[in-house]
Amino acid sequence: MDMETVKCLIIGGGPAGYTAAIYGARADMAPVLYEGLQPGGQLTTTTDIENYPGFENGIGGQALMETMKAQAMRLGADLRVGTVTSADLSERPFKITVDGDREILAETLIIATGATAKYLGLPSETRFKGLGVSACATCDGFFYRRKTVAVVGGGDTACEEATYLAGLCRKVYMIVRRDVLRASQAMQERVMATENIEILWNCNTQEILGDDAGVTGARLVRKDGEVFDIAVDGFFLAIGHHPNSELFSQWVKVDKEGYIITDGKTSRTNVDGVFAAGDVQDPLYRQAITAAASGCRAALDAEKFIKMQ
Ligand code: NDP
Repeated sequence: MDMETVKCLIIGGGPAGYTAAIYGARADMAPVLYEGLQPGGQLTTTTDIENYPGFENGIGGQALMETMKAQAMRLGADLRVGTVTSADLSERPFKITVDGDREILAETLIIATGATAKYLGLPSETRFKGLGVSACATCDGFFYRRKTVAVVGGGDTACEEATYLAGLCRKVYMIVRRDVLRASQAMQERVMATENIEILWNCNTQEILGDDAGVTGARLVRKDGEVFDIAVDGFFLAIGHHPNSELFSQWVKVDKEGYIITDGKTSRTNVDGVFAAGDVQDPLYRQAITAAASGCRAALDAEKFIKMQ
């Protein structure tokens, strides 16, 4: 087996990982970053990003990530294609295996593996991803101004996304599979008080309808068996996210949803020398800018840790 020792290993090629690489490189930690299965992370599945400061006219998700990556490389970070397949964090240096056959010993580790939005699993969902199907209202809602959209889910995220979209769109349907919302009372009240939100109770989505130009509607089935179509231009998933922490959760403390627990305002985990950044430790904000900021913190924390050894 190939063996290599690195000062700072970063796992994850999203805004958190790339920013950690930028800061790590400038701090002479010679960071090595493995991008994983989806280089660029979740942002590469969105179109234009208009809320990332510094880009007056917005920037494409893919382009933003390529720019971050190029910046990290220019500063000397070693960015590699590869997926971490196992991790042993029982002692330092940590033992990380990439693609099943490359072993790396890491003095410090920054976990920036992100989260994955849950999808319903319909073939039509895959067909229209980026063509009307989205799992991020703050990313894509703007493109549905004065249009009609649907949001699937009944949790806090769904309510938050529905009220956000209601401010932009003509009408918002919430597709809720039970006859109650899971969301907090306050969020439920906000939804109920919003005139252009209509909740379709006891409904599941059977199919997303559309043509070559994108989504045109959704076919729903009510608990009593009735099947009916609604006309929508956008279809938003808000049925939860899944943090990609499984590989590490044997050592690193996670909450009941699997999000890595960090210490106060820092990126420190319960394992000395292991830091977490981005969506894998953030169930709340999930923005490119907050992920990038936490990547910065993780690199600074790792630098401090190394200096104190
Ligand atoms: P939740 O797990 O809380 O809610 C998921 C929702 O999606 C539920 O209504 C669930 O229905 C529904 N759902 C799940 N799977 C399916 C499916 N296959 N088909 C249809 N519907 C489905 O996830 P959230 O992302 O909303 O929230 C995650 C956490 O983050 C929560 O703890 C939440 O409180 C918190 N949060 C807090 C916010 C705030 O305080 N402002 C904002 C956003 C999130 P069912 O109820 O039937 O299971």
